[in-house]
Amino acid sequence: MNEQGQIVKSLAGFYYVDTGKAEYRCRARGIFKKEGVTPLVGDRVLITPQDDEEGVVDEILPRKNEFIRPLVANVDVFVITVATAEPEPNPEIIDRFLVTAELADADACLCVNKDDLESARAKRIADVYNGLYPTVVTSALTGEGLEELRLAIKGRSAAFAGASGVGKTSLIALLTGDERLKVGGVSERTGRGRHTTRHVEILTLADGTKVYDTPGFTSFEAAAASDFTDANIGALFPEFAALTDECRFNDCRHDFEPGCAVLAALENGTIKRSRYESYIKLLRKSEEK
Ligand code: GDP
Ligand code: ZN
Repeated sequence: MNEQGQIVKSLAGFYYVDTGKAEYRCRARGIFKKEGVTPLVGDRVLITPQDDEEGVVDEILPRKNEFIRPLVANVDVFVITVATAEPEPNPEIIDRFLVTAELADADACLCVNKDDLESARAKRIADVYNGLYPTVVTSALTGEGLEELRLAIKGRSAAFAGASGVGKTSLIALLTGDERLKVGGVSERTGRGRHTTRHVEILTLADGTKVYDTPGFTSFEAAAASDFTDANIGALFPEFAALTDECRFNDCRHDFEPGCAVLAALENGTIKRSRYESYIKLLRKSEEK
């Protein structure tokens, strides 16, 4: 009898599959190797249990998306995390991650962490993305915003992305209740404890939400300019995409074109300057090629 589940961990040739009722340690059928297919953490699979603990992966169900670094599949929602300070927020990096999410056909939610440090700045960042992407303001130190974050990813498979030091590990710790990862926790960045085991794992929260724990990866591989043609970069910025029909030319690049609705929106402040600058940087990169 087949059962459906999700690969939550891959270790030493075994795939750990969560069926919602139990977790099975599985081998993959030989056919995968023959066909050059590698099951990934996040894959939804059909397995045949051998007993209460062991099973065989028979089939990998179609992937929604997959990533190379870290090597995972089926991310529903990216939590793009940025700190108000330490490290300084960088709008261009935020936008690159948002574009990565758009390219992967995943949802994105912006998490502005370390609100305890520079609260005014948290508000400014949130204002830029308000109405574009769900935005939560958190502090892993005080626990502020944690319920909003929980709600933003509820019931889905969520992966954190963002620069090193913004608080991804700390937030995951708060969500999962893993003491070792908390702010001020013993194993923080010391190389001892959790960070010594650098395998990717999916953690299941009490409400069924799944969180990809990807230690050692500061972020999901941001989109390379080669991932998109210059023609569709505008489509990856939702507020631009919404206006494209109003541009005079239907292949408008929103650069110097007359009658450009995006440039008009930039002028009147509906489109935020930092978003436009991120767009132009990506456009220029693609033009270099
Ligand atoms: P990661 O590299 O994104 O996983 O970031 P970490 O979770 O390892 O956090 C980096 C540093 O920032 C650690 O020293 C944390 O204790 C600290 N930190 C994380 N979240 C907060 C926060 O909300 N406020 C403050 N003040 N410090 C935080
Ligand atoms: Zn235009």
